[in-house]
Amino acid sequence: MPNVEKILKSFGIKTIIDGQVTEKCVGVCCPFCPEGDDGFHLGVFKDYGNFTCWKCGTKGSLFLLLRKLVGISYSAYGKVLADAGFVDIGTDPVKKVQELLNPKQVTKRADDAIPELPPTAKPIIKDRKGSLLSKFLHRRRYTLQDCIDHRCWITPIGIAPWGLRLIIPIFDKDGHYVAYQGRDLTNRAKERYKTVRGFGIKRHLYGVEHPACHMHLVVVEGVFDQWRMGPGVVATFGTSLSESQLLAIINLKPQRVTLFWDADAKIKSFQAASHITPFVNDVRVAIPFEDRDPDDMGSAEAWTAVESAEKL
Ligand SMILES: [Zn+2]
Repeated sequence: MPNVEKILKSFGIKTIIDGQVTEKCVGVCCPFCPEGDDGFHLGVFKDYGNFTCWKCGTKGSLFLLLRKLVGISYSAYGKVLADAGFVDIGTDPVKKVQELLNPKQVTKRADDAIPELPPTAKPIIKDRKGSLLSKFLHRRRYTLQDCIDHRCWITPIGIAPWGLRLIIPIFDKDGHYVAYQGRDLTNRAKERYKTVRGFGIKRHLYGVEHPACHMHLVVVEGVFDQWRMGPGVVATFGTSLSESQLLAIINLKPQRVTLFWDADAKIKSFQAASHITPFVNDVRVAIPFEDRDPDDMGSAEAWTAVESAEKL
């Protein structure tokens, strides 16, 4: 059984077992309360790792809490979960952890049906102020570190159709590179997101390689929604669920699945949910607040919408 309390203690975070919150939770002083909290009002659920604050109402994932409290990175979080027995990191744990801690390395799955990266693509390691990339990231409230954590590349030379794009690699469950998506950085290209013809990205789920507690799996629409919400969240590249994506979701054996697509895709969300319902006990549809897209919301707000969804 994973031990949430042990994880929190390993970071020197003060916890209580009995007190303000239910016995299903470990109590922590809430870092999100606007006027502060010294009464351990935030409860981290032992089963899911998600949390709720009973004072300010903030909800979220264990990752969000650790990022707020100790500034943890994506890759370090993977290692923490693996060490605590929260995730199965396969037959070669040392290799897996090395891969997690070495995000620049891109290893390809042994398979012909995988597209080569564009020849002009370079891994993103650093950036300068005022560049096309830094402006793009700033507008969308991401940082260079987000690009590095997600092992992104960039095509710096402006030759259509692949020039001046953020190249976002897609990985399978074992962390092998399987496909990519190119996001236009100029805001002038006809196709904002470009993929290589013939290599269907709809066969994949974005973010599936991040070790996370998949007991509660959140399914979002796009790559940047996944970045915003972190591990335990996968993206479907649009508002439809392909057969392979449905199968991949079932194979993660989640106890709960919450679909969290954009506000204009409510009907599609419920349709997709009905395909998951025969296989997963608890399926929910979260609707972004006030019809905003998940991308416009902060991560705490997005998680609150997800945790507020009711079982179908
Ligand atoms: Zn609070």
